Amino acid sequence: MSPIAPPLARRLEGLQSSAIRDLLKLTARADIISLAGGLPDAELMPRDRIARAAAAALEGRSRLQYTESPGWGPLREVLAAREAQRLGREVPIDEVFVTHGSQQALSLLSEVLLDPGSLVVVEDPAYVGALQVFRAAGARIEAIPLDAEGMRLDALRDLLARGERPAVVHTVSNFHNPGGVTLSAARRRELAELAGTYGFWVIEDDPYGELWFDRPAPDPVATYSPNVIRLSSVSKILAPALRVGWMVAPPRVCRAVELLKQGADLCGSALTQQIAADLLTDTEWLTGHIDAVRTAYGTRAKALVAAVRDRFGERVRTSDAAGGMFVWVDFTDGTDTNALLPTALDAGVAYVPGSAFAVATDYSHSARLCFTTSDTAVLEQAVDRLARAHTLG
Ligand code: PMP
Repeated sequence: MSPIAPPLARRLEGLQSSAIRDLLKLTARADIISLAGGLPDAELMPRDRIARAAAAALEGRSRLQYTESPGWGPLREVLAAREAQRLGREVPIDEVFVTHGSQQALSLLSEVLLDPGSLVVVEDPAYVGALQVFRAAGARIEAIPLDAEGMRLDALRDLLARGERPAVVHTVSNFHNPGGVTLSAARRRELAELAGTYGFWVIEDDPYGELWFDRPAPDPVATYSPNVIRLSSVSKILAPALRVGWMVAPPRVCRAVELLKQGADLCGSALTQQIAADLLTDTEWLTGHIDAVRTAYGTRAKALVAAVRDRFGERVRTSDAAGGMFVWVDFTDGTDTNALLPTALDAGVAYVPGSAFAVATDYSHSARLCFTTSDTAVLEQAVDRLARAHTLG
């Protein structure tokens, strides 16, 4: 008798592997220039500085031990001081909670803030990692389109006027992944005000804020309301392998997250948390390091956008290359980016079709281009290949 196969939990029904991760397997071929990945440039990660910090952390044995669930105390102190500067107010340590990357903050917050069927508002196009988390939590999802100033708050106001009551509004406020745009200062204030008026949480997901090219991003949404939970991470400024992210949230949220973190993984790594604290407190070095990353990414972003505008002219619209890691491209000539992809791969270039990030709109004429991991000459070659594929397609 063949054994009866036991089922998996019902919450997995309808969950899909991220289309981007699946696509990355295809684009790993050496002859393909990939604008598809969403990875920071490993060449710019401070390996030697991390090695020195690791050696210092390993001088004693205490960093090999378990640490507190909300994070290693000295790291929380450093983060509280940095966030205080950012938010223009004192940030007590019990409002700072360290997570395994900001992705874990999203995952733990979804358990703390949502019941099955709770309404979550996301941006369209959306950060796929957040969508996966909210879907797994059994949330009902509504999407609000982006424009050049970020989330369209007129559409959010319409949704509220229809009687919808979100539990959470998720926004990538700075240099959006995938949209490339930044929420304007006026909209930040307005979003915070709506959160207070209607009593919903805002998750301000901000891993890219420090990667500005010409001018710093406006003050965080969290500056304006205690209903805003701010997430950030060292992944894009130091290295994702440290898996150090954090949230700034009211103490009752941090306490609830702590209960769940205990169940998820007991605690983060004291070793990488000390390494992160070491690098973040070395302010003179850190300023120089982040400047170098900004300069490299800014040069690449501008070269990519210039090449796209030069080769495609009126046939595309692109987001500005103002910061972060991505440029969003809309083809105005009706090009279907899913249909174009096989031809583009044959021509030796990869991108992520807009549909991979779509929630309510299909974004079939859009694409996300990542500029972080190639130098300007390679990026220009990538756009030449894309233009060739576009002519053939
Ligand atoms: N939020 C956004 C918007 C992201 O783009 C990412 C990474 N791609 C994350 C959160 C998660 O990053 P990490 O867990 O490495 O901090």
